[in-house]
Amino acid sequence: MKAVMKSETIKAITTHYIDGAFVESHGREVMDIVRPTDGKVIGRVTLGDEEDTRRAIAAAKRALASFGRTSKEERLRYLRQLHKAVSDHVDDLTAVMIEEYGGVAQFARLIVESGVNAFAAAEKGLQELPLTQSWGKTTVTLEPVGVAGLITAWNANALFICLKLASAVAAGCTVVIKPSEMSSLQTRVMVEALNAAELPKGVFNVVTGLGTVVGAEMVRNPDVAKISFTGSVAVGQQIMRDGAATMKRVTLELGGKSPTILLDDAVLDKAIPAALVLAFMNSGQACAAGTRLLVPKRRLDDVKQAIRKTMPAFAVGDPADPKTAVGPMVSQKQYERVESYIRKGIEEGADVLVGGEGRPKGLEAGYFVKPTVFVNVKNDMAIAQEEIFGPVLSVITYDSEDEAIRIANDSKYGLHAAVIGTDLSRARRVASQLRAGRVVINGMTDDPQAPWGGFKYSGVGREYGRYGIEAFLETRAILE
Ligand code: NAD
Repeated sequence: MKAVMKSETIKAITTHYIDGAFVESHGREVMDIVRPTDGKVIGRVTLGDEEDTRRAIAAAKRALASFGRTSKEERLRYLRQLHKAVSDHVDDLTAVMIEEYGGVAQFARLIVESGVNAFAAAEKGLQELPLTQSWGKTTVTLEPVGVAGLITAWNANALFICLKLASAVAAGCTVVIKPSEMSSLQTRVMVEALNAAELPKGVFNVVTGLGTVVGAEMVRNPDVAKISFTGSVAVGQQIMRDGAATMKRVTLELGGKSPTILLDDAVLDKAIPAALVLAFMNSGQACAAGTRLLVPKRRLDDVKQAIRKTMPAFAVGDPADPKTAVGPMVSQKQYERVESYIRKGIEEGADVLVGGEGRPKGLEAGYFVKPTVFVNVKNDMAIAQEEIFGPVLSVITYDSEDEAIRIANDSKYGLHAAVIGTDLSRARRVASQLRAGRVVINGMTDDPQAPWGGFKYSGVGREYGRYGIEAFLETRAILE
């Protein structure tokens, strides 16, 4: 198998970005960065500690004094500078996402471009958002909430950093970013890009380190007013609990177990490829992945046939190859997690339609799993209720539209959902009954002005466009 870039030199990252400069880490612990296609060490990152974090928070606090008072026009200019700076690095950011994370080329570029677009979306959102409104003797202003801590997951590093930073800058907040430690090489390329945007020093600071060290300090520190977090439910709950001590504002973007409802008038030649894209996007390591496919019982045989026919288009392999749809899992731990769920599905009595346990042939060196589709799944099985975060799809049958809606909503999650069908008014009617923050009709699509976020355990608050900016604002009324 060809590997991406094949850079055999080990990159060492020993600095954080604090107060507009790259500074040596005070923390001394070193972590290996492992390439998921072959398990080789490709980087060593020196992890930040509480002292690095406090320095970054202090820099953000100093910068807030003037940045928090910038006009809308100034913030729009900074957003344009950020947009240009990151646009100039789309190729480098895509290449490093492929190498460090194993993101497939066809998806990695989309992720990076979505990050670039986040700055443009924030610009539009800010233009449309009245920061001051008055009536009679009352004036209401929207004020930056303060220093914000941005904590991100590893599955779309470039997008999360850009999205959260764009909203914060639009709101006039200064930030400390703690990316996933597993995305350190990607973060370095991103910070170099952001550095070229020439924002005032201290507006954004980046400390790479462990969640339990750097993240925990951000959550605890009284000088941080807000945490915007993307990651697991368990850590999100801990942030909410620990943040209460300093009354943190929180935005939590957490997990999902998203349903795709295939209505009985769906045309399978189009519907099944669309459903499989939803299931296997980002190699299944996507919070929005449509991992429960709800199909009318009477069409099950046709659905099974269509899935078998379509699966060859979802080739697993070298993420650098543009034909690859499913790359490796990010780590050995994630590989084992996905394998354990495939085993659990079999033990629970579901049937493997395609895929199954073990590495695909010829891909023994990396953290590759077989894209797997289970049929005969009941919605109360673990594979239908728990987030696997890998390319594993559960097909569940229903008898009526009402039952499909009930099964779709029978989940502790509510991040994303999809409806596929020919009669659009019917599809819209079904969509309007789903308890999810975003519902797409007839295939994956995006709108950077549309809010993103979860009902139930999928999170608290919304990101993107105007909604994302509002999450970094406080409201003040002055009455004469
Ligand atoms: P994770 O919760 O393990 O880690 C996320 C981040 O939190 C990392 O930067 C980590 O270092 C940090 N962290 C860990 N412990 C912490 C603590 N005690 N205090 C503060 N920070 C801490 O999640 P992950 O494994 O990196 O990502 C996978 C999860 O993210 C999945 O559940 C997925 O659904 C979710 N996710 C959600 C969205 C969304 O938009 N809703 C997007 C992508 C991923």
